[in-house]
Amino acid sequence: MSLDKTTIPAPTIVDREFVKPLLCGAGPSDVWPSVVKAYSKPVLSPICDEQFKVLDDIRAGLQYVFQTNSNLVLAMSGSAHTGMEALISNLIAPNEILLVASRGIWDQRAADMASRYGIRTIVSKITLNKTFSLEQLEALLTKHKPHALFITHGDSSTGTIQNLEGLGQICHKYGTLLLVDTVVSLIGAPFFMDKWEIDAVYTSTQKAMSGPAGISPVAFSPRAEAKINNRKHKPPFYFDITLLAQQWNCYGDTRSYHHTLSPPLLWALRECLKEVIKETLPVSWARHTATTAHFHRRLKELPLQFLVPKLEDRLVTVTTIVLPKGYDHKKFVSHLREKHHIMILAGLGPTIGIAVRVGLMGVNSTITNADIVADALTKTLKALTKSSL
Ligand code: PMP
Repeated sequence: MSLDKTTIPAPTIVDREFVKPLLCGAGPSDVWPSVVKAYSKPVLSPICDEQFKVLDDIRAGLQYVFQTNSNLVLAMSGSAHTGMEALISNLIAPNEILLVASRGIWDQRAADMASRYGIRTIVSKITLNKTFSLEQLEALLTKHKPHALFITHGDSSTGTIQNLEGLGQICHKYGTLLLVDTVVSLIGAPFFMDKWEIDAVYTSTQKAMSGPAGISPVAFSPRAEAKINNRKHKPPFYFDITLLAQQWNCYGDTRSYHHTLSPPLLWALRECLKEVIKETLPVSWARHTATTAHFHRRLKELPLQFLVPKLEDRLVTVTTIVLPKGYDHKKFVSHLREKHHIMILAGLGPTIGIAVRVGLMGVNSTITNADIVADALTKTLKALTKSSL
């Protein structure tokens, strides 16, 4: 066989022109201009001082955004699913019980992941568009006595936000660890890991942090850390927090190699954190609240309904909207994309065919954008009435 000839011909890869839409779905959102610059900074070796400093900056920034003094704070290589899988595989042993308080698609994913690890998984669902009361959650803990409770703070499939204040204290009465998804809530809505006694949390860079996907910050409380240190089971190598803590120098005395981290993503995450630090969390939370309140006022002028009836249950970063009868959700979303260059999303999981989802978060959370989207929704409602209903 000749080794200087290929048998598979080289493909032609053509660069295509396209108009970038304003990203107003449930994520990803647009990226800070400073972050675009940051991810073209030089690639670094995983074992050089410059990269070690980047990791240290990221860990300090993450302690701020999670509001924790915990040492076990780092970022997983991979999208937020990696954070989800890291929490589950590190903290719950096969045959232990995970209770999933389920409102949407993400907690269902967590249940699916857990069952693949041989974890006994109990899913308790709430009616679409509602959140759990602390009394309901305590009743579930009393009944099932789980080793861990998984819950999402913000649920991007239903547009709801779960009150977490007091839940950690309740979980700890029952010896249960509290695992929380903050992928679509962090930076947009208040979150206090230490004050709320959350044991493990993961988030994403591609939502209110306004960075690229591909790196997933995680943090573990001292209680969770103790469980990791005393566990008998071994999580997958790539997710093993004990090894990753050494790579990320979580205890200040190790700089070992575990896998090659992606320098562009590290630079990007570091820059996202600099943006949040510059603005400060309280100002960011207030900006998201003001933008979404303005957007909701505009929606009230239209023949639309909020999927989530209670104001306190509505997620600030993603609004779920029920269209008037007869509108095709897919056509509606495509019309906004094609005619107005705005990307919103159709329903997902339990909201498929029920609601469309509009995200105003991170760099996109501005009154101007809220007006742009509200104007485009107004025009789309009219255009589709005339042309295609
Ligand atoms: N959790 C929530 C609440 C999400 O909105 C998403 C993504 N839309 C995920 C988890 C998964 O994130 P990723 O696609 O970045 O893995």
